[in-house]
Amino acid sequence: MHFCSSECPLGSGSMETYNFAAGPAAFPKTVLAEAAKGLIDWRGSGMSVMEMPFTGPEFNLIMAEAQATLRRLLDLPENFRILFLQGGAYGQFAFIPMNLLRGMGKADYAVTGHWSRRAAAEARKYGSVNIVADSSVNGFAVLSETADWELDPEAAYCHITTNETANGVQFHRLPDTGAVPLVADMTSDFMTAPLDMTRFGAVYASAQKNLGPAGLTIVIVREDLVGTALAGTPAVFDFEGLIANNSKINTPPTWAIYVAGLMFNWLEDEGGLAEMARRNRKKADLVYGIIDANEIYSCPVPPGSRSTVNPVFNLPNRDLDEAFVAAAAARGLLNLRGHQSYAGIRVSLYNAVTDRAVQALLDVMAEFAAADGKGLPIS
Ligand SMILES: *Cc1c(COP(=O)(O)O)cnc(C)c1O
Repeated sequence: MHFCSSECPLGSGSMETYNFAAGPAAFPKTVLAEAAKGLIDWRGSGMSVMEMPFTGPEFNLIMAEAQATLRRLLDLPENFRILFLQGGAYGQFAFIPMNLLRGMGKADYAVTGHWSRRAAAEARKYGSVNIVADSSVNGFAVLSETADWELDPEAAYCHITTNETANGVQFHRLPDTGAVPLVADMTSDFMTAPLDMTRFGAVYASAQKNLGPAGLTIVIVREDLVGTALAGTPAVFDFEGLIANNSKINTPPTWAIYVAGLMFNWLEDEGGLAEMARRNRKKADLVYGIIDANEIYSCPVPPGSRSTVNPVFNLPNRDLDEAFVAAAAARGLLNLRGHQSYAGIRVSLYNAVTDRAVQALLDVMAEFAAADGKGLPIS
């Protein structure tokens, strides 16, 4: 049977659950409820958003509203363009060099974790990559001082990953790249705090970490950098043609754009990015506070490099990591296991993760520490 009757056996039942997944990740319940309406009938149009022609007036309005709200939230200067693409952030690891090498053939990359290492590896297919920092030597726990980087003044751009989702490290100060455009993979911290786009040539983020469903990648690019894509760049990923056609060279990810637009509305209603930064700082301080206060927990990342979005921590051994994940799941706290390539626990604290979820986590962490890792009474 493929469809549930009214007594659907799926779902979490009566226990309240809190999702700490790294991505796809938690949504505000109000956004899910609004999306459910648009799934059935959008604003009385007689169509689901999924049924709309992407060139029709209804979807044009959905997309225009999403772009306008995003522009307001970011206070985006006129000379930056917003693209709504497919292919994920991993796709951008290739599309950024294809579009932004601009005949210069080389770019600087900071390797500060799992994702930036992949970005640099992909870029090598299209040009020469100069590694300006490599923290693999310390297990990606500590960000190097950006002042120590040997930047190439003739690089086409300098690429960083502002928040390393798997490693729990985040830049809290941007490198000064002078006239060389700074390009950032912001997939896991885009719109978790205000952003001064004048510091960047381009930023990109796939939506499923913090902004919406999988299938949408947002690129924001300064228009003067566009127009000299490498020969062989696919038309659907050539930024110049995408700008000229408002991201509609072919069918854009209409449903994902709609839901991201609902998320932008939610962000505006909740007070915007400064308010998100305040909330995220507070949630992260609470989580790092309990890690540092209990000997059973240790954070591999020193305070100056710690992520406000994806705190990571370890227990004394892998068995205890697993025991903690199981004890938390028994209390409805889901998806706390660390990235598959790294041991330990990862707590993703995106915009939609509530204070109530964080309090539930603090309670479990306190109980688990008090029981010295011997498990929790299952209440
Ligand atoms: C998840 C993630 C990616 C990969 O995103 P996809 O949309 O799966 O391609 C890249 N960079 C960062 C920082 C991420 O968190």
